[in-house]
Amino acid sequence: MIYFDHAATTGTYPEVLLEMTPFFRELYGNPSSIYEFGKAAKEMMERARKQIARSIGAKKEEIYFTSGGTEADNWAILKTAEKNREKGKHIITSGIEHHAVLRTCAFLERNGYEVTYLPVDENGLISVSELEQAIREDTILITIMYANNEIGTVQPVREIGELAGKKGILFHTDAVQAYLHEKIDVEKEHIDMLSASGHKFGGPKGVGFLYIREGTELPSLLRGGDQEKKRRAGTENVAGIVGMGKASAIGEKNFEENHETLLRMRNTLIERLQTEIPDSRINGSLEKRLDGNVNVIFKVVEGEALLLLLDMAGICVSSGSACNSSSKSTSHVLQAIGVPPEYIRGTIRITLGAENTMEEIDTLMENLKGYVQNLRENA
Ligand code: PLP
Repeated sequence: MIYFDHAATTGTYPEVLLEMTPFFRELYGNPSSIYEFGKAAKEMMERARKQIARSIGAKKEEIYFTSGGTEADNWAILKTAEKNREKGKHIITSGIEHHAVLRTCAFLERNGYEVTYLPVDENGLISVSELEQAIREDTILITIMYANNEIGTVQPVREIGELAGKKGILFHTDAVQAYLHEKIDVEKEHIDMLSASGHKFGGPKGVGFLYIREGTELPSLLRGGDQEKKRRAGTENVAGIVGMGKASAIGEKNFEENHETLLRMRNTLIERLQTEIPDSRINGSLEKRLDGNVNVIFKVVEGEALLLLLDMAGICVSSGSACNSSSKSTSHVLQAIGVPPEYIRGTIRITLGAENTMEEIDTLMENLKGYVQNLRENA
């Protein structure tokens, strides 16, 4: 099997699994317990918190563990809205966010809030001056993703953060795809809240975190126990948190090497697609792009058919975004960047991981060339 769908999820690193295992049988104590047995779990959890904080230039006390990216996004948006409703009911986001953000914003709209969805240009980038124009007296939150899960476009986060800071508006960013692919610094980039998810970077599924800048008032999303300084109720997913911390440490240590490896493979793939397969087009910015993302249209080809053929050859890629592969609706991201409807169906997303090899890229290219030609001949 050749795996090219790292934006959907990643395999758990073996070292992560090793680190997690004791927390199921030997060290299964509840971290809230005061006896020694529980304390071991607590200590390892705090080590993970410290590691994650360091990786984004935050303080340990500013990291809160969640069940993943979806919960972190929901928490940041819903509770900012609730807490600041006396101040205003206007939120700014972009039209290409993940559904964890878009559907949360839609929920707020149904409950008396107003949401501005900023457009993006043909590369998938928002305009900071349009953002500035959209800001109103009653704007309480700007939530713009760090990098897009379908086309890999990386937004001008620092400029957005500076503007939000200047205007005194809270800035949340969904960094689920960007974490450990981009160098994130919450201080330099003026980020108030940031979401990430463990399974996108070699950690386990069902665990993530929300960074909340010290002093930001964000009530708990869940009602229940006093965990996470009364801000996130529920017994902690200790093994998951420990595993995510380990994955973060591995990712941080190998950042430069992985980044270079991914860029080399990504650029080779993009160049080969453009030169070896006629009538193909890369979606999204070529410069401001995640290191492992290739999103490509093959004109007059049914992407789903191509995906199934590749699957039969043992190659995993995604059509559009895997986050919504069960939905039949057309990708809102490709629509937003102006891809004509007749071409949207011919899109596949190939997302690389550092463990992929150039030989696997060769195999992918050989298969793609043959299948695209066959599908076109039979179209
Ligand atoms: N945000 C983005 C940009 C994503 O790509 C995803 C998942 O693919 C999520 C949020 C949701 O994360 P999770 O699956 O951990 O809830």
